[in-house]
Formats: sequence, C-alpha cells, structure tokens
Amino acid sequence: METLGLYFHIPFCKSKCPYCDFYSVTDKTLFAPYKDALCEEIKSLRRCRDFVGTNIKKRIVDTVYFGGGTPSLWGAHNINAVLQAVKENFTLSDKAEITVECNPSSPDLEDFLLRCAENGVNRISLGMQSAVDNERKKLGRSADRAKILHTIQCARKAGIDNISLDLIIGIPDQTAESLQESLDFLISTGVPHASVYLLSIEDGTFFDKNRHKLNLPDEDTAASFYLQTVDFLNKNGLSQYEVSNFAKSGFESRHNSRYWEQKEYLGLGSAAHSFVNGKRFGFDRSIQNFLNAIAPEDMGTGGDFEEFVMLKMRLAKGLTHADCKEKFGFHIPSALLKRAEQYEKHKLLTIDENGLSFTPEGFLLSNSILSDLLDSLQEEDI
Ligand code: SF4
Repeated sequence: METLGLYFHIPFCKSKCPYCDFYSVTDKTLFAPYKDALCEEIKSLRRCRDFVGTNIKKRIVDTVYFGGGTPSLWGAHNINAVLQAVKENFTLSDKAEITVECNPSSPDLEDFLLRCAENGVNRISLGMQSAVDNERKKLGRSADRAKILHTIQCARKAGIDNISLDLIIGIPDQTAESLQESLDFLISTGVPHASVYLLSIEDGTFFDKNRHKLNLPDEDTAASFYLQTVDFLNKNGLSQYEVSNFAKSGFESRHNSRYWEQKEYLGLGSAAHSFVNGKRFGFDRSIQNFLNAIAPEDMGTGGDFEEFVMLKMRLAKGLTHADCKEKFGFHIPSALLKRAEQYEKHKLLTIDENGLSFTPEGFLLSNSILSDLLDSLQEEDI
C-alpha cells in the first residue's frame, strides 16, 4: 500500500506581510477551536470521508508538514496535540519526516522548538527571506539577522539539524551584492537545505497596491539574481534538485517531493489541498467553514500524463524515460522529444539517454516552454 503524507495548514499570522496572499488571519481566539477541529477531523475524517474512504488510516504516514500561516505562532501545545492525534489515529512511521514552518519573529522559539522536538518534529523550514535586515523590514519581517542565527542554534540545541532557510529574490532595492550577502550568510550557517522564491506581486496585496512606489528589479535583473543564486548554491554544497529547492545530498524535502512525484497526501485545515485515491480536493480559504465542518471542494481527477510532465519538469533530474515507463507504460513520446530539441539548441533544456530536464536558464521560462511541449502531445494523441 502506498505511503501517505499529511499536511496541516495553520492559518495564523501576527500581521499580514505586504507581499503575501496565503490564507491567514490574526485572531488568536481561534487557536484552540482550530486545534480541536483539526484533531476531531483526524479522528473522524467526517469532512473528507467522501474523498478518502475508510482505508486511508491503514496507510503508513511517512511525512507530516505543518505549513502556514505561522505554525510557530500557534504554539507547541497545539502542534503536539495534532501530532498526538495523528499517532493515535494513523500509522506514523518511526522514520517519518515531520516539518514545522517557523517564523524567526515568533515568541519563545527556544521553548517551542524543544517541545516540538520532544514530540517528534525533526525538520524546520525557517522564513529567513533575506539576511539583510533592511530588506527583511521591507518584507514586513521584524526579526533581525541575529535572531535568525539564534533560532538556528535553538533548533540544533533541540536536536533538529534538518533545517531549511527560505530566501526571496527580487526584493525592492535588492542588488547583486545584497543578494550575495544573504547567500554568504546562508552558506555560513551550514544548513542543509534552502528554498528560493522569486518575489511575485500578487493581486490585492499591499505591494500590488503600491507597486509604483517600489523599486523592484526588472525581469532581466530578477532572472540574473536567480542564476546567481543557482550557481552559488550549487558550487557551495547545496545542489539544486527542484526549480526552487536546494539541498545537501540526503536532505531533500521528502514531504514536498511528494507533490512533484505525484505521490499522495492528505491536507487538513482551511486552504489545505489533497491528492488521495487519484482525486484532488481542497478546503476553502475560510477558518469558519473548517470549524463548521464544511466538506472540501472536488477539484477533479489528478495524476494524468500532462500533470506528470509538468511536475517532473520542476525537478532538476527532469522527466525520465524510466519514470514514464514505470507509471504509464511508455517512454517519453517522440513528438515531445522532437519539440524539445529546439529548446536544447538554445541551452534551455538538456536531452540525453535518460530523458530531458531544464537548465537553470530554462527554469526561468519553464511555463511557456512546458505549454509548448504539452501541445506536442496532441500530435501523438496521448
Ligand atoms: S508570515 Fe508568512 S504566511 Fe504570514 S503573512 Fe507573512 S508571508 Fe504570509
């Protein structure tokens, strides 16, 4: 039986960062009711029973991920209550990867990390965003560089060495030098994983409404920042394994890899999405609806070949003949390979006997290239 990942969305933040459009609220009075609702759902699965069936609890859970929002603001007692409910209702592997996203500005992080580690948390993803204090302020982040370093030390003291730092590139007024300062800091901490995101200005955010006042790097500059980052991290021990993710060997995120490998996961909580029994479904962006036990929305069937191509091409190893054969019984279609050749000529793709993969330059144009590659599938009627 295939293993399962569990994702819990913790939609609480101290305040709203000016660039963020993730679902989150600031009302602390909802902390306890939300924890109770999550624990009750883990036990009864009444909200998503129509999608998951009763057999789901027999599957071995080998990754658990608390994302947000700000799980570190929600408190260790709530995280641990949810973990306890998982242990009582699912079969949690002894070797499960259990990740909690942390914001270095959250209070009492030392105690938080110790108590989470005692209950099995063995990985954190820390929202550093930049090691330059002034840049973090522009992103609405109050913790300074010393606080980030202190949080890393606290995690290690608690026994959590599997630490990922988030980095944002394309911050207003960012330069190649200030980005390098962040990259140097990141490597100097010795963490084994980094996630790097290009800042995108989402509709309705503060940054969107004030776009004209922001000195944002233009597209070419942001692209050069991305290439600078990929090159530097690859040369300094954190190898790119996905368009936005870099790791020392053996520290690739096992939970997030589920998404790119089309493996199944159950997401609980407002705004959490799932892929179970070949179906995709998601809870809407409303805590109240989750508290009121409103069922998730059906998002259709997942796992087809087009989706497989799109997800695999996010990975540095790309789309391989072997993976295609194993999952769908055929090699990469020749029409797709033929279409890919023009991109290989421009060094945006690499094609070899294993399959095809994006170069770092190709990752920057991946949306338009993928849409063209997928069009070629119609020629072979797949
Ligand atoms: S802490 Fe994270 S989730 Fe919360 S508002 Fe800021 S960026 Fe968004």
